[in-house]
Amino acid sequence: MSDRIKRIDLTRDFQAHKEEYMKAIQAVCEETAFSGGRFADQFDEELAAFVGTRYAAGVNNGTSALHLAMLALGVGPGDEVIVPANTYIATAWGVSYTGATPVFADCTPDTWEIDPASVERKITQKTKGIIGVHLYGQPFDFRAIREIADRHGLFVVEDCAQASNALYEGRQVGSLGELGCFSFYPGKNLYAFGEGGSVTTDNEEYFKHITRLKNQGCDVRYYHDEVGYNMRLEGVQGAVLSVSLKYLNEWTDRRIAIGQRYHREITNPLITMQVHPENTRPVYHLFVITVPDHEDFVRYMEEQNIECNMHYPVPCHLQKAYAHLGYQPGDCPNAEYLASHCVTLPLFPEMRDDEVERVVRACNEYKGAVKKP
Ligand SMILES: *Cc1c(COP(=O)(O)O)cnc(C)c1O
Repeated sequence: MSDRIKRIDLTRDFQAHKEEYMKAIQAVCEETAFSGGRFADQFDEELAAFVGTRYAAGVNNGTSALHLAMLALGVGPGDEVIVPANTYIATAWGVSYTGATPVFADCTPDTWEIDPASVERKITQKTKGIIGVHLYGQPFDFRAIREIADRHGLFVVEDCAQASNALYEGRQVGSLGELGCFSFYPGKNLYAFGEGGSVTTDNEEYFKHITRLKNQGCDVRYYHDEVGYNMRLEGVQGAVLSVSLKYLNEWTDRRIAIGQRYHREITNPLITMQVHPENTRPVYHLFVITVPDHEDFVRYMEEQNIECNMHYPVPCHLQKAYAHLGYQPGDCPNAEYLASHCVTLPLFPEMRDDEVERVVRACNEYKGAVKKP
């Protein structure tokens, strides 16, 4: 029996750069700069320089990044913010935490990214803005979303949680909208040894407000100007992220090489892949395909000792948490199709060529579910 291929294996990165990571963590410990502090601040500067924004505010996770972005933009009770139906649920949480209502738009049938036509139909008097998600590492159609937003006086926030280092018309994601929200959850393209996130922006006012909110509502210690939160980035995470950021281009190149290989070599007509528009550089955070019977496909791959999973099996508008919003099956048909047919193949930078080959072969040898008599 051949070795198991995991969907993602973080131990290989740690083993490859162990000494460097441990040295960075030790430096934080020597200075006891544990919460915020020099190492977190330094990573903020490095990330802003990398993304090409004036500011980056490190926070404790990506969900907080989205929450603080909504607060900085003045979103609150009675407001609506349009988000895609097919995304990780946290995109919508940031809206809900403020007391506002997420309104779910469908995705396109080929890029699987937020559909500008669907967004346009969801705009009401209450709409404040749009959160686009660069889902699976594929930049969404920013130009079209920006144009709609400008016509209606709305903000555009980018959820970059899955797309660190992706490019849209040559620009880094996170530098396009009013605010960019990043997650450094383990397994994201750029990840911390725990939880982490960041909000990037060129706007000084937003940056200062987010910095105050994440820091218990104060600019000066023990003087609290508004009700704030404890959402600072930890020093250890900042130090680890500064090491990882140096490798991000290398990791991205490897992800792209594997992603392109899957596109070229997987030729099974039962398998459909995401379409990547030419004005973008996707970074293959997740390599998602659709098949007629995804449960059967995952079982089949498991028999080949290849771990796959599904991103995501239930679209946001049909989650129980949002049952009170009254959505029905059929409201976002493309997102629903994706949810009931998606499979995520193994893909991570340290995957070996022989493993990529095995995944390709298994995909091409898949015959489809046996029809029940
Ligand atoms: C991971 C993720 C988040 C949440 O980030 P956390 O750091 O886990 O809080 C938000 N949106 C998307 C699209 C994500 O993939």
